[in-house]
Parts: sequence; structure tokens; C-alpha cells
Amino acid sequence: MKITALRVVMLRVQQDVGSIEPAWEQGAAMRFSRGGGSVLEIETDQGFTGLGPAVKGRVLEAVEPILVGADPRDVEALFERMRFAMRNQGGMAGVDIALWDLRAKIEGVPLHRLCGAHRDRVPAYASMIRLGAPDERAELAASLQQRGFGAIKLRLHAASMREDLAIVDAVRTRVGASMTILCDANQAQSQGDWQPGVRWDYARALETAKELEQRGVAWLEEPLPRYAYAELRRLRDAVAIPIAGGENLRLQEYGPMLALAPYDIVQPDAMVVDGLTGLRRAFALARQHGARIAPHHGGRGIGTIAHLHACAAAPDVPYVEVLHDPPIGDFAHGFAPFVGAPTLDGSGNLVLPTGPGLGIELDPSFRDRTT
Ligand SMILES: [Mg+2]
Repeated sequence: MKITALRVVMLRVQQDVGSIEPAWEQGAAMRFSRGGGSVLEIETDQGFTGLGPAVKGRVLEAVEPILVGADPRDVEALFERMRFAMRNQGGMAGVDIALWDLRAKIEGVPLHRLCGAHRDRVPAYASMIRLGAPDERAELAASLQQRGFGAIKLRLHAASMREDLAIVDAVRTRVGASMTILCDANQAQSQGDWQPGVRWDYARALETAKELEQRGVAWLEEPLPRYAYAELRRLRDAVAIPIAGGENLRLQEYGPMLALAPYDIVQPDAMVVDGLTGLRRAFALARQHGARIAPHHGGRGIGTIAHLHACAAAPDVPYVEVLHDPPIGDFAHGFAPFVGAPTLDGSGNLVLPTGPGLGIELDPSFRDRTT
């Protein structure tokens, strides 16, 4: 079996849903639509087609000579060759995901089965996008709880700690003790020192962690800058609440980071660690270092579906993260172009597709031009 071609397929926008301001990027507008964007297809000489998140033209140019003519089942060897060709610059995650989709399709099994599945659904947590006001967030949390969600992640991006805690308290009062609350300060967005919005120092991180600990919050995510490993370790040692992070780290950064143990829980993202191969390697590294794993969301469409498969096959992963801040930021908008996309059951679990590979097909009505 040989790969014959790679192509990026542009998707038609069937509905413009609107924009919301993400808490982690003050002033920015995150656009939601049903359709739009693009996907990657990898063709073979035996009728199988792999589907993955789109990649940029420079990535296609770099990996085409490696992939065309190669056997798509050699995913892990191709991963190494592609990473070398890309000089570790990233951006190839979509190709690796499409190769895993292909490999599972060729074997005729759902991807999570190929990866050693142990469950057919994974508890999802609703990851907020907006900062919001206490009453409004509490209202939304209650409606998510009604829908079955057992966990919600709030953003801590207010000017003061008092305002951040007011949101947590309003939500807790409204949903009671049975819903898990997670908090994300998004302080590691920048590779350097500056990022938009409020910036925490060690004192604010420590004080907030202690307050959240008393409120039974299940983890505090990214309380300090991306590479502040020594301070993160100090914080970890000073509080009992688990400290989480790592969504922005490349695969080659995972080993050095884990050796310094800045986090109780690490959160690799397939789109950042060059695909599902990288994600599975990050999981393995975390286990070697005794860190817990709760992966990041993988984007909004195919990336999240790929994460769902990886989570289903990892018994030590408690949740799959879905960016879900309805009505505009509803995760289902990102799944709209795909037939067979995962849906929620009544208990807040995302149910795995049962077809071969990722278990989804591109709805032909979304297919626009090909590049
Ligand atoms: Mg985060």
C-alpha cells in the first residue's frame, strides 16, 4: 500500500455563528462558524483516504517527498522523518493525525481500538472561553450541569483575585458540590514575558492557589509563565491543590520540563507536539516521571476528535477537554462538517465514533475547492 497524494480541502461556511472574546487574549475575537477553514486528506493507491486537521503549504512541501510512495502504516517512522524535514519547527500535526486515521482505516478498526482502547466514552469537561461575570457564569454552569457535564473549567483573568474568586464562588453556590470546578489562569500563553491582559506574579499565584484549595477546586492551571519551572515547583511544594500546565510545550520540551517537576498534571496538545504520535509519547514521558495527564483540547474540530481517541485508550486520563462556552462557543459547531462526529451522552461523556479510523467523514456539502 502506498500514499499517492496529499491535499488541503477548503470547507464552505454554512453558518456564521458569531465571535466571542477569549479570556486569554483580551481584545481578540474568536470566530465560530459551522464549516470554514480546511482539512487535510491523504490518498492511497487502495482507496483509503486519511483525514486530519489542515497544514500550511510549507509543511505540505516539506513532507510530500517523504510521504508520496511510502506505506502509510509506518506512522512512527514517518513521524521521525517528517520531524527531521521540518527541522522541529512544528505544524505537521495534521499529517500525523491523518496517518493514524489511515492506519486504523486500513486495519478496519476505530482508532482508539488500535491504540488499546479501554472505554467507549470519556468524561468531558466544559472549558470556558470567556471570562464572564459571576452571575452569568453561574447560570451557564447550571445549564451545563443540567446537560450532564460533571466538570467545568473557569478562567481566572479578572484584574484582582477578589473578582476571580467571586466567579468561582458564584458557580460553586449555584452548582453545589457535585460538579468539579477547574481553574485556568492562562499565564503561559507567551513564550516570553509579555501577553495581553492581567499578569500574575508568584505572590498572586500562591495566594490564589490557597484560596482555590479551600474551595475544593480540582486543579489550578498555568498560574505562572511558560518557563518559570523553578517558581512553579516552589508553588507546587507550597500548596496541596494540583498545579497543571504544559499545553504550549513542544514534544522536545517535555522531557526537560518533566525532569524539573513543575506540574502535578501535564496537559500536552497533539496540535503542538506534532500529532498523535507526539501526544502518545508525551503521555509515556509523563508516566515515567510520575506526573498525571489531562491533555489539552487539541483545537476545535478533528484535533479534539483525535484527542478523544487518545483519551479513550489511556486509562489514566480523567477527562477530555472540550472548548465549550455556548451558545456561540459551542463545541458542536467545530464538529458540524463531519458525519459521525462524537456526541455527548446524558452524563457528560463524549461518545467515541464506532467507524474505522477517527470514525468521521467529511460531509460532501461542506467540500469546497482543493489546493
Ligand atoms: Mg489551558
